[in-house]
Amino acid sequence: MVGSLGRVTDPRRYIVRTYGCQMNEHDSERIAGLLEADGLVPVTSEADADVVVLNTCCIRENADNKLYGNLGHLKTWKGERDGRQIVVSGCLAQKDRDGVRGRAAYVDVVLGTHNVHRAAELVREAKENGPITEILDAAVVDAELVDGAMFPSALPAKRTSSYNAWVTIQIGCDNNCAFCIVPAVRGEEMSRPFADIVAEVESLAAAGVTEVTLLGQNVNSYGRDIQVAARRGGDASAALRPLFADLLKAVGSVGGIRRVRYTSPHPKDMRPETFAAMAATAAVCEQLHYPLQSGSDRVLSLMHRGYTAERFLQRLAEARRVVPDLAVSTDIIVGFPGETDDDFADTLAVAAEAKFDDAFTFIFSPRPGTEAASMTDEFVNPGVAGERFDRLRIVIERSSLAANTARIGRIEEVLVEGPSKRNPDVLSGRTRQHRLVHFAAPEPLRAGAYATVEIATAAPHHLTGRFVEQTAEAQHRVRIPVAVL
Ligand code: SF4
Repeated sequence: MVGSLGRVTDPRRYIVRTYGCQMNEHDSERIAGLLEADGLVPVTSEADADVVVLNTCCIRENADNKLYGNLGHLKTWKGERDGRQIVVSGCLAQKDRDGVRGRAAYVDVVLGTHNVHRAAELVREAKENGPITEILDAAVVDAELVDGAMFPSALPAKRTSSYNAWVTIQIGCDNNCAFCIVPAVRGEEMSRPFADIVAEVESLAAAGVTEVTLLGQNVNSYGRDIQVAARRGGDASAALRPLFADLLKAVGSVGGIRRVRYTSPHPKDMRPETFAAMAATAAVCEQLHYPLQSGSDRVLSLMHRGYTAERFLQRLAEARRVVPDLAVSTDIIVGFPGETDDDFADTLAVAAEAKFDDAFTFIFSPRPGTEAASMTDEFVNPGVAGERFDRLRIVIERSSLAANTARIGRIEEVLVEGPSKRNPDVLSGRTRQHRLVHFAAPEPLRAGAYATVEIATAAPHHLTGRFVEQTAEAQHRVRIPVAVL
């Protein structure tokens, strides 16, 4: 890079710290991609960086405290060298807006969830003209944004993995679950154009990606807004399309894509067409994340979830009937405001009946700005909630272990992720059902390769296996460190 006096100058260096969900991680990939397209280079520690981006999340507990605590440390960091910049992006920035710089005036850029595409420009503008807070209230459909750049997947990416990829199919959420801040910070549901999604998957496949995960807050209502807009425009043929099921089939038929996953669906919007598409499309994995949240109809109603426990179980049974060998995971909140012993007993009963393969269980904690946060009179005693949480974990671990034990003796294909985090002498991989398998291989296997393993032992959260054979080489061209045994 040549400076204004003709001298060669070092490129500026950046680091992105991500908090929160996959949607945020994907946004971080986009921010990194935009910064790199603007000439910045990545580093792995703040000490080496000129720009630190904190991509925040307000879904997790104590998010505010963590952000402002981190900003306190970064104030010192910034003062150590001229030209350093701090960027705060993501849900918490969207929620706190001017409040971010109100509490930490030395922050250079505050940007929200609807203008990720502006990240590099804002960093540059702030460097020249001083601090900027830019928060949009909604995603702006702007003809000048090439290919709908409000969708993070339409922006340049610096992907963290080169053999699997997230693909955004939808942003925002039209639901109003009482515990969730997402609709407030991510805005109304907006589906990404069908052709854009398929085109992105095709280009990923051409680059050697073999597994994609379709990402949205409520993926199986994908296309609803497109249908409505088409009908308003007088296109009757668009009345029922595109459905999420169509998207699954289209993405699953892209050459080179061996596995398709999606997250997260909403139980009230699960449609038979989705299950049929899963069963009919070989690349779509036998895996469903199906968030229960509570087994009590009374609590589900307080949460505004839009289904009953019975309906949830009926659809689950239908999914398992149509999609053979389906693994099902869930989310459950324990101690939602007003949850009684009877309500919790219902949750335990539904969890036991559902026989989940895995579950993300949480003790309720209020997220400022949500309806549930204002139900303070109904908050459940933390000791009671903790005890319920432990009892629920026992039920979940029982079904997880039973489901994993049932895999012993089977030959399963895994996508190799690399050396195990706990034991670098063995490899880790994921089955189509997303089960984690540790196994030793007689020869080095690149992350991104496929191999079959015979399942040997089971624990609630992982399996071990014996290597059988490699079934596919990694296709991507980027070299990933090889595990040697
Ligand atoms: S469906 Fe409910 S929990 Fe999921 S993002 Fe929308 S409001 Fe939040």
